[in-house]
Amino acid sequence: MKKSKRAMRRSILQCLYAHLQDAYGLEIQAEQFMQDQLSDREIDALLAFKSDARIDELRSALDRLERGVYGTCLACKDAMDQGLLDTDPARRLCGACEMLYSHIMTHGTGLSISTRL
Ligand SMILES: [Zn+2]
Repeated sequence: MKKSKRAMRRSILQCLYAHLQDAYGLEIQAEQFMQDQLSDREIDALLAFKSDARIDELRSALDRLERGVYGTCLACKDAMDQGLLDTDPARRLCGACEMLYSHIMTHGTGLSISTRL
């Protein structure tokens, strides 16, 4: 079952908040950060003070949600399993693609096989 956009946004923000808290220690309260009134623009303004790969991932997840492509695998364009998104809301690849591409990245094989045929 797919979650509503609002619920997905909340779970992304929750992750973002937990990360900011872990990495930097925040003064802002969780309720303040995750309330729906906080616009993407305001989030951007807050994030302007911090920068790391995880923030970028989660910020681009919010962006994909706005563009209506959130939860779609970047590689095969299939809808991703909700369970995977619950585990990591910033996830960009479905299970099968993640296995395939991480194999290619670590072993340098895979893509070449199909081009050789
Ligand atoms: Zn895929």
